[in-house]
Amino acid sequence: MAESGAVADIGVPNANHALWMRAALLEADLAPLHGDVPVGCVIVSADGVELARDHNRREQNADPTAHAEVLAIRAAAGKLGKWRVERASVFVTLEPCPMCAGALINARVARVVFGARDPKAGALVSLFELGGDLRLNHRFEVVSGVLADEASARLRGFFAKLRAAPAADSAGTQGDSSVGVSVPSSGEGAAGNAPPESAT
Ligand SMILES: [Zn+2]
Repeated sequence: MAESGAVADIGVPNANHALWMRAALLEADLAPLHGDVPVGCVIVSADGVELARDHNRREQNADPTAHAEVLAIRAAAGKLGKWRVERASVFVTLEPCPMCAGALINARVARVVFGARDPKAGALVSLFELGGDLRLNHRFEVVSGVLADEASARLRGFFAKLRAAPAADSAGTQGDSSVGVSVPSSGEGAAGNAPPESAT
């Protein structure tokens, strides 16, 4: 699409933040299909070219590190053929946790744009401010609240379905299942719309 005006030197223009966040939201929508909390991430080069996108696959992969950001940053680095994903902008629907913030610092990204805050695990504004910590060897710009309501609505809907689903046991998600990838969820087919026994 046509872009007018100068591109910011460290990433895509602000006007495109919502556009890329929409793509991240679409990616988030794929996570509940395999019982995962809906969080999506898209990584864009300074030239405005998409490098990678992925969504939370923690339950699907039985992998505590399979957050959307980690999967996407690995894919972006793989595409570039180097671990430095410099000058890239990262669009993620939920505020990154400490693990993901660490991965993004290590990848040397230029900017992280997120939607909903995560008061229980957020590491960019809520609990920590890792993106701007002067003690670390890299910092990036943080933009919060882009399409936050839409990201929050997805998370609320996901957890509401979990609570409504006939629980195999009652130990699953209690009061703290509002927002956040850190919320313990009882995996298998927990989401009401999960396909019955798909492969793997
Ligand atoms: Zn994370």
